Amino acid sequence: MDEVKRQAVEHQVWESEWETAFNILLRLKDAIALVISWAESNEEVHNRLLLMCLELMNKMPPVYTKTSEDSSGLTVTINGESSTITHFDVLKSATSIHQPVVRIIAGLFTAKDHAMFLKTSKPGTELQEKIRSLLQSNEDTNLYELALRVLVLCAQTNASLWRRNGFSLVNQIHNYFSPLCRSEMFDRDVLMMQVGAALTPPLKFIIHLLHRFRLDKWATTEFEQDKAAAAQTKPESEDLSKTMVLIAEEFFQCLILIFSERYTYGVGKTNPLDGLKREVVHILCTGSHTFSHIQQKVSHDNNTKRVSLHEAVNQVADFRKPLSTSAGQFHCKESCLPMYSPFFMHYSKSDQSAAEQCQARVRAKMDRVTRSCFPNPLPDYLPFFENLPLILKSNMLIHVFKLVIDRTTRRSRFSSDRVFHKVLYLIGIALNEEEKDPDFGFTHKAEENVGLLGMLEGLLGKQEASICPALLEVTVEKYRKLLKRNSGPPEPVIVETHPMSTAEELKAKRQAKAAEMRQKAMAKMSSMQSKFMKKIEVDESKDETHVKTEGAIKPEDCDNKDEDIVKQIGHDFPVCIGINKWQTEIEKPRILTCILCQEDEVIAPQLGKPMVCAAFIQQSQLFTHKNQKGELMTASSGAISTRDLLTAPATLQYGVDVSTCSHSMHYECYKSLSESNRSRDSLRARQVGQHPHKMVDTESGEFQCPLCKRLSNAAIPILPAYQLTNQIGFSTVSGAANENFEVWVARVKRSLEMPLSSESVTKKGHSRKRSHSERSLLDLEKLSQTSKESDGSPKYSYNATHTDASSTTQLPTSTPTESKIIMNSPPSADDADFYNELAALFVDPETNNANSPTATPTPAGESNPRSSESTSSEAVKKPLSSQIQHAIHTLIRPFPSMSKSKICSTAFDGFEEPIKDLGKNMIKYRRRGNESKVNFIEKHLKGYAISTVTWQSAAHVARAISSYLYYDKKPLFGALNTRQRDCMSAMSRLCASLSHNMQFLLHAVSDMLRVLLCDPPTAKVTQTLGSPLFGTSPSSANPSSTPHSGTNFAFFVQLFNPAGPRKNVNLNILQVDILSLAISLMMTIGWTWNNGVQSMSNTSTKATTHQKSRLLTPDGSVDEAYVLRLALLAHYFQIFATHDESDGEDANMDDGSEIHSNLDPAIIEIMVKLYSICHPDDQPLRRVDVLWKKLEEGAHSLLRPVALLYHYITLVDPPEALKDPSIHSAEALFRYVGLPSKIEEHIQGSLVESLFVMWSLAIPKDDHLLRELVVQPVKPNLLVDLPDRYSQLINRVASFKCPTIPIEESTSNVPTLCLVCGTILCSQAYCCQKIVNKQSYGACRYHMSQCSGSVGMFLRVRDCSLVLMTTRKRGCFRPAPYVDEFGEVDQGFRRGNPLHLNPELYQKLKSLWLQQGITEEVVNYNEIDYRNVQYDWAHF
Ligand SMILES: [Zn+2]
Ligand SMILES: [Zn+2]
Ligand SMILES: [Zn+2]
Ligand SMILES: [Zn+2]
Repeated sequence: MDEVKRQAVEHQVWESEWETAFNILLRLKDAIALVISWAESNEEVHNRLLLMCLELMNKMPPVYTKTSEDSSGLTVTINGESSTITHFDVLKSATSIHQPVVRIIAGLFTAKDHAMFLKTSKPGTELQEKIRSLLQSNEDTNLYELALRVLVLCAQTNASLWRRNGFSLVNQIHNYFSPLCRSEMFDRDVLMMQVGAALTPPLKFIIHLLHRFRLDKWATTEFEQDKAAAAQTKPESEDLSKTMVLIAEEFFQCLILIFSERYTYGVGKTNPLDGLKREVVHILCTGSHTFSHIQQKVSHDNNTKRVSLHEAVNQVADFRKPLSTSAGQFHCKESCLPMYSPFFMHYSKSDQSAAEQCQARVRAKMDRVTRSCFPNPLPDYLPFFENLPLILKSNMLIHVFKLVIDRTTRRSRFSSDRVFHKVLYLIGIALNEEEKDPDFGFTHKAEENVGLLGMLEGLLGKQEASICPALLEVTVEKYRKLLKRNSGPPEPVIVETHPMSTAEELKAKRQAKAAEMRQKAMAKMSSMQSKFMKKIEVDESKDETHVKTEGAIKPEDCDNKDEDIVKQIGHDFPVCIGINKWQTEIEKPRILTCILCQEDEVIAPQLGKPMVCAAFIQQSQLFTHKNQKGELMTASSGAISTRDLLTAPATLQYGVDVSTCSHSMHYECYKSLSESNRSRDSLRARQVGQHPHKMVDTESGEFQCPLCKRLSNAAIPILPAYQLTNQIGFSTVSGAANENFEVWVARVKRSLEMPLSSESVTKKGHSRKRSHSERSLLDLEKLSQTSKESDGSPKYSYNATHTDASSTTQLPTSTPTESKIIMNSPPSADDADFYNELAALFVDPETNNANSPTATPTPAGESNPRSSESTSSEAVKKPLSSQIQHAIHTLIRPFPSMSKSKICSTAFDGFEEPIKDLGKNMIKYRRRGNESKVNFIEKHLKGYAISTVTWQSAAHVARAISSYLYYDKKPLFGALNTRQRDCMSAMSRLCASLSHNMQFLLHAVSDMLRVLLCDPPTAKVTQTLGSPLFGTSPSSANPSSTPHSGTNFAFFVQLFNPAGPRKNVNLNILQVDILSLAISLMMTIGWTWNNGVQSMSNTSTKATTHQKSRLLTPDGSVDEAYVLRLALLAHYFQIFATHDESDGEDANMDDGSEIHSNLDPAIIEIMVKLYSICHPDDQPLRRVDVLWKKLEEGAHSLLRPVALLYHYITLVDPPEALKDPSIHSAEALFRYVGLPSKIEEHIQGSLVESLFVMWSLAIPKDDHLLRELVVQPVKPNLLVDLPDRYSQLINRVASFKCPTIPIEESTSNVPTLCLVCGTILCSQAYCCQKIVNKQSYGACRYHMSQCSGSVGMFLRVRDCSLVLMTTRKRGCFRPAPYVDEFGEVDQGFRRGNPLHLNPELYQKLKSLWLQQGITEEVVNYNEIDYRNVQYDWAHF
């Protein structure tokens, strides 16, 4: 409300307060509008109100500045005409933007004819006479003086005269024009100017305006001569002229508004709808827009609310249907284009130029009149404003017009293109008036006074008028026409100017001709191009046929140096695994460019420096099984088992996802990049004193890809293809090629069942040593058993008491000599740490979880009793007894691969470091980020752990990519994007290269085979905490009856003690993820062949020490094919075993009748038989087709990932059928991976039956336990289906009560829907926060840990917005996939239109979910909108 005074010398020191006045205005705005329309209803009410306001204003009349003479009046003479006005200079005095009383008065003049008495001399009522005398007693310009000052202030600000006044003024002026306020501010001021123009004599009005704009000197003819004289003494006038011209532009703008804004209610003969239509047309003239954009731009005003914006928009615009994911837009109808005025009152500077550009484009091909944007005929003024146009033909104004045209012709620096344009536009308005009313006489007067037409004609076709040549032409034509109409005889001028227009036409013709020629040239060029292309194609096809005749060599696209160029040799159908496998040779290895140093590198061994590509590793619970409560089977709700070291559990609780943006760099360059990142960040942290809140967590190793800024936290090595190395494929050492599957299975099974002890007894020297370690280990196990039984704790507490209880001296005394041999060095302090870690790692999962910073919260006390047992975890942290330390020491020492050898064969020299780095990272994300444990595993298990983790993670990646392709309805091959392709390729080769680590750990290989080929543990699953684990939860009543007898530790012992007693591995086949197992086995099976003999164990520890390491690699050998086939059968068995007829989709539809669709009766017979093996007590199988479908799905879910993996290992090009999305048959897939081409061929035969009989022992008899099994095949945890209409969601939420405090009135404030399971939660509320590990979590974040793992997607129903969340307290808001009838989303649900689901948008989200891209999306989005950082995402 404060007045502003211009800061002439210094900048504003502090910003003055400005918001309050606007807030008051916003509160009053609607009331003012209502008061004015109320006054309209009755003349007396109106007059009384007017009198009241005038009296109010009279109490505070405008303050004028005194001139040097004593009178406030000042006589201004311009070009011989003069008028006396009061003096005031906006630049030098104070002005306020807020003039509420004046604006109400302005509004009152729009009320019907109630103010008409002011324009007649007839005596009115007493009230009216009072008003009249009040007005006359004051200066007659007082009425609009204040409004004018505000306009002048804005004009001067636009001309940068007020730039020292700071943001307060800028903000005020911004709001003055904003759609929110303008209806009661700017619009009213313009209206007041119109009122003033109607009541004031034209001459006085113009002079008054010129004077207030400080243009009175500028408007004189002598001005320039004076200036020229002044400039010789003062050279600073350059700048002044610019300012002056800018002010002049604003002056003419003001005049244009006075004459052309007749759509304001009560000014012209129009209706509100037309006014709104005009407004919308002008918005659309800046380009096509969405409905919400139009809504935003239209004045927020009660008058416009009365008419339907929707109707107005539909009348002036065409709606273009939304594209699948972008909103629909409105385009201005061509018939409405003439309404456009470049000087529309509600245009901002940027709108104006946007409109100009857009219109130039739209109208380019239209006729000249349309192109010229000549002012459109305007509606007549209402009687009160009738005499307004008279100003247009006042001598004073015509004179100013002349002055401008004259200056333009002379290119004076006191005029500009814009000033000229505006003057032309004003002349156009005047001509329009004359056209309507022949007696108006503008042309006559203008000709008489200054000869305007001649001046305009003089400019035709000249450079000076280049801003609006079309407008000038049209104006001149119209001028002539009107002049002719008025004066009768044609003027000779027409003949004279004719050549001018023909010159124009000639120019147009020339242009047309030039365009034509250009087009011809283009056509010629493109035809030449296409000819050339055709020729190339022919050449290429010639080449191809040529190659094909030579042999089945198919060069892949030759120009692509990004991929290896492969030569393939094979028969008819491409096969990548097994006996008919195609041979591949690399003709030319791929070449990659380092994005950091820009050097090219050939991806081949020994040729160059190792390359890596930026990768992002994250935990993924995409496939993790959910228990019956719908909770994820993550480590927080289940236990970690050492058996995971062998293969992944069926619950898939640790998915480690790897993805890449496929930007490659040297490992060296990557290293130095991360080094500099780290130092820069620590430097910054020191400088700032605290960590800036950043999205990218450099401390945990995150960085952004230097090229594309994608979030990354690791680097995948890009290994050369094995074909380029000196490694030998498994197939060359395998002797399985001449066995069929049945024989192979029988032989391998026999060799697994061979008693191992007999084999080793022969070597006496080692047996004693073994017995020693064996004994100590058995003691250990006993020890743990006793500890468990004694305190009833489910944990193995290796604490001091237990150590004391057992004989501590047993080891060294009993076998002193051996201990010397085995423990050639006593455990160092370093090692002692390791043993502590070991126990903590394998024995107690909770500590692992609690220590990690990124841990997902464990459930609160009552849901999981574990978290409260702090005592047991504390016990584990205590140092281990020396005895156990010795034992483990003994255990691990003998393995060279464990301690000494490299994890990477010599074939991949230089990749040791990058592979180790990545492996460490993967272990970190699998083990939930505990650095010390990662270091431990890395240090002591070396390659073994890295290999198994990598294989499991590769299984996850391949499974995720293949299911993404499946749900996106894309073929398995041919639709992969570069990222997916490079990720699969890198992971596949990494898998194969890590095979190297297993050559001395053949007992681990045989352990894996035992899962498939040995009697499973007796069918009884211990169920604790509802998790089908590996029997590692001994808290059940009777631990000795657990089928997986033995403990984590015993298992560990067995795994690393090849010479020990081979007990059954105790892995229940139903609890193993077959895909991970298959991949691990396929990667390792070849090592079992040695000198043509397949042996399932390394014969002795001594032998392993001296064995020379071999260079072997999986290459799709027959063994691999057989392992895959066996795994497939095992997977079929899992499906049979977990199939439950009663929960089929339409189980009760058929009552007893058998529906077998169109299956072969022979198949039905087999299926029924196999089913009865698995379910001997159940009714025979009725819906064979349902189970059959599951088998097909299962085969796909297992083989598609394997096919992807082996494609990139062997580089055999897949058959066309796998690249075609329309082919659904599995036959091509089966044949490609070397399997019989039909499922029936897989499941028939006595071998299958006998395997099923053996495996069926694993099926628990207990119904309850049966139901706890993971039902195969596994499906990804997809997003739920959403209702079609948003109102359905709202209704669902309306009745939702906070689950924590279910009081009647406490309906949840922020009801939020989990899109993964469909649960509604009470988000962002204290009532539903949960405290886990002393940290509080909001309902969503807590739910996320139970439902979707490390990322979550939620829908806030009342806001209609999505919340994406990831770990580390990051998150972002996105619009929900609901759109209104215009295809627009409504984030925040502000407009409140009826919304419906946009399936394409939702599909996009589903894809994002399947691609596990949430974290990336969140980080990317925060780059765009940093405001997301400020939310407290932990409490959502
Ligand atoms: Zn480089
Ligand atoms: Zn990148
Ligand atoms: Zn959920
Ligand atoms: Zn609540």
